[in-house]
Amino acid sequence: MRMKMSEAKLISGADLSQKLLSELEVRVKDLAARGIVPKLTVILAGEDPASKSYVRSKAKMCKQLGLASEIIRLDAAVTQGELLTIIHRLNSDDSVHGVLVQLPLPKGISEDIILNSIDPAKDVDGFHPANVGQLSIGAPTFVPCTPKGVMYMLDAINCDLAGKHAVVVGRSNIVGKPVAQLLLAKHATVTICHSRTRDLPSVCKTADVLVAAVGRPKMITAEYVKPGAVVIDVGINRVDGAIVGDVDFDSVKNAAEWLTPVPGGVGKMTVAMLMSNTIESAERKNKA
Ligand code: NDP
Repeated sequence: MRMKMSEAKLISGADLSQKLLSELEVRVKDLAARGIVPKLTVILAGEDPASKSYVRSKAKMCKQLGLASEIIRLDAAVTQGELLTIIHRLNSDDSVHGVLVQLPLPKGISEDIILNSIDPAKDVDGFHPANVGQLSIGAPTFVPCTPKGVMYMLDAINCDLAGKHAVVVGRSNIVGKPVAQLLLAKHATVTICHSRTRDLPSVCKTADVLVAAVGRPKMITAEYVKPGAVVIDVGINRVDGAIVGDVDFDSVKNAAEWLTPVPGGVGKMTVAMLMSNTIESAERKNKA
């Protein structure tokens, strides 16, 4: 890595998601020529405003790309049994290629039981334990969308990860752990940090690639960043009506060589990767 001389270059999720979508268009056309339209069904239980907005953007992108989509809206009072019945129906519906249950679920419903009930072959979020296991042994699987988007961004800047030190701040099942697995698969030396990590700034400062998936607005400042590092900000935090990342952009832009903005960064990739996984599911099911 060179010493930092100027402001960080941006890794634009807006541009890269468009690039990905045009790659996906080709695959959608190939499927259409065989009479196959990939279909994503999203289950939304309750009235969480952020969830509603995520579900809307998923349906919008399906439409843009020519995928079929369906949103099943359920009252927050839905029971676990009712939800399981719907998932079992979707599992056996041949026209559905992807089944996604929008999280968080209403109180009283077990996230584990619900996610485990989705057919792993339709688990386009990649959260089913069978798919998580596949990822950990490096076997083909549905890679969770946000981590897959992070890797696409690193690839887009030709970041050769072999032998690099990658530090992931956050160890959630949906972001931190799978990102770490993917970085490891690309031969990075990976450190995973969390709320009990001692002297987090010093650990982060040794990173060639720093991924922030914490959920704490602007926590990562220049003090955490090695000059010339690649910094990927996964955070989406709502502060006074605005969306900010886990990285303090104005501070870190003077230390990092590459930086993802928020908004317009990883978040854009996540939805596009959901399309990618849904298309992949349709392709797998209809393999010649
Ligand atoms: P979680 O709350 O599940 O996990 C947060 C992680 O950060 C935990 O492992 C936690 O540690 C760690 N952490 C919390 N505080 C600190 C701290 N002070 N120092 C070090 N580590 C800390 O969050 P998610 O992984 O679901 O999401 C992370 C962020 O990414 C959020 O802002 C979320 O909105 C965003 N997000 C963005 C997506 C996108 O498309 N761009 C998609 C999904 C999430 P511990 O395990 O010890 O509690």
